Amino acid sequence: MPDNGPVVGVLALQGDVREHQRAVSECGLRSALVRRPAELAEVDALILPGGESTTISRLLVAFDLMGPLRARLAEGMPAYGACAGMILLSREILDGTADQRTLAGLDVVVRRNAFGRQVDSFEADLEFEGIPGGTVRAVFIRAPWVERAGSGVEVLARVPEIPAAGGAAGRIVAIRQGCVLATAFHPELTGDRRVHQLFCEMVRRSRVGACR
Ligand code: GLN
Repeated sequence: MPDNGPVVGVLALQGDVREHQRAVSECGLRSALVRRPAELAEVDALILPGGESTTISRLLVAFDLMGPLRARLAEGMPAYGACAGMILLSREILDGTADQRTLAGLDVVVRRNAFGRQVDSFEADLEFEGIPGGTVRAVFIRAPWVERAGSGVEVLARVPEIPAAGGAAGRIVAIRQGCVLATAFHPELTGDRRVHQLFCEMVRRSRVGACR
């Protein structure tokens, strides 16, 4: 891996951190764990893994990362949020907890645990805008969906209109706005690296001025 290539940080407060690190290295970029403001300052981009968004929100406050992370996002740092990461990056959360904070990196309203209490886990094959090579297998675990998206937000994937999807059919589950990407599902769990490749390509391009 080139020593002067961009470094993708992985927020390591909670959640499936190692799987994202592995995916980044398989895409040919360096990665680093981020738990402190000084570590955030060293990275060129950040992945916010899935986990529990209420817990990660509290830990971001406890580790003094909320302000610095909001500032980096406002400056245009590329970021990718999966599941709880998508919730944290949103502008507004429905069915969140009273003390839950957001990073407001995406002009979207997300609904937490949107697939319903019974649906702990749901899988579907998604048509994903910008990802060639056929559908992407998506693993949803107590996942959110995007309830409303602002006009600057690109919708990249929706839950397919299949009977198993029930009330989730057609819901928005992958988006991009500028240098920020988010999925309601967990691509780090399937071995298919195409979502991480898309993000790593955004990171590479951000170095020459634009994320796409
Ligand atoms: N339900 C979780 C939350 O609210 C997200 C689940 C996940 O990241 N797999 O944060």
